[in-house]
Amino acid sequence: MGTLEGNTMSGEPKGPKRKPIAATSEMGRLMQAHFKGLDHSARTGERKVAWCNSVGPAELLRAMDFDVYFPENHGAMLGSTRTATENIPAANAIGYSPEVCSYMTSDIGAFLRNETPLLRAYGIKSVPKPDVLVYNTNQCRDVQEWFNYFARHFKVPAIGVDSPRAIVHLNEAIIGDVQFQLEALVPHLERITQEPLDKDRLAETVELSLIATRLWSDVLETATHSPSPLTFFDGTIHMGPIVVLRGTQEAVEYYDLLLKEMKDRVREGVAAVDGEQHRIYWEGMPIWGRLRTHSELFARLGCAVVASTYCNSWIFNDFDPSDPWRSMARAYSGIFITRSEEVKERYIREMLKRYSIDGIVFHDSKTCAANSNARYGMPQRIQEETGIPALVIDGDLNDLRLVSDEQLVTNIEAYVEQLGG
Ligand code: SF4
Repeated sequence: MGTLEGNTMSGEPKGPKRKPIAATSEMGRLMQAHFKGLDHSARTGERKVAWCNSVGPAELLRAMDFDVYFPENHGAMLGSTRTATENIPAANAIGYSPEVCSYMTSDIGAFLRNETPLLRAYGIKSVPKPDVLVYNTNQCRDVQEWFNYFARHFKVPAIGVDSPRAIVHLNEAIIGDVQFQLEALVPHLERITQEPLDKDRLAETVELSLIATRLWSDVLETATHSPSPLTFFDGTIHMGPIVVLRGTQEAVEYYDLLLKEMKDRVREGVAAVDGEQHRIYWEGMPIWGRLRTHSELFARLGCAVVASTYCNSWIFNDFDPSDPWRSMARAYSGIFITRSEEVKERYIREMLKRYSIDGIVFHDSKTCAANSNARYGMPQRIQEETGIPALVIDGDLNDLRLVSDEQLVTNIEAYVEQLGG
């Protein structure tokens, strides 16, 4: 299996470069402050540290003044720095299968090997020691096992919400159950912080999340314009704050800034991909270690990957500061990943229309069944119903041993040819 990153694609000249987004430097500053703050909290104990999954109850944790760390973000850093693959075997050696989530195996493996990309990026030597780990299984079961590993290691509690999956109707029974479980976390968390939950602060945090999520949604919506001012590959980078800073004023200000830049681009006709010929929808996880390669590949072929399920997964329109508990339960239970095939297909069909999509690429990410929607006939059904050609590519979010670069390039080139133009 050849590796293309840092080299040329099949010996071809390098494709067009991604157009730099000016807000990126502000995002870098925010992420640095986030990790430095966490490192400080963990080392001094000034603030308690909670680990949280990416669609876990971050608002609750922030309202209780935890410094919140997201292991999936660390997993994505391991992937994008292409250090995941070398760390996975260490987790395999202690019994974590090569077939389970490669965020988890690369993260556990890196921990076992005392390695972290935080060192190079921010001068931080290790992930912050948790006081508690809080999950919601709305996205998958693996997060629970991932958190349980670290809970055993650090001898701290892992607590969470067990959410239903493959939901057809998001009914009162489901919302009530999840709300009950969310509220039941409070006494456990209060024992750790030694402070009671401030209900007003919870409402404020939910409001900040709502504002940030709307701004993020507006950023992504700018890609409905043709030419699109940003691509899925830009989105995977700029979604950082909506994951790790949700519920903060910083996230609100960041997306305000990014939105202005994207609106300027639309006004001035700045295209993320010059000569945009085809508009592509990406379904599934990115292949983190190939972001730049894939961005350049699609751009070289005149394709702007303008929308995705993945980047849109952090839009929580249901948050309501006047009813924080119920609205959190509704928002976190209603996201795409928790839904049935039928609901997912309806969502994707709407996205294809809204973004004027010509082609849809399904990434079957081998170690993440939860984010791979090509396994029960969905690509075929969507193609039949919409007439939009679907391509399924095999790969993985982090384990590059599961990515065949040459085959992927060949398949995408042939697919784009079929789109014509
Ligand atoms: S959703 Fe997929 S990538 Fe995310 S933690 Fe679960 S298995 Fe891993």
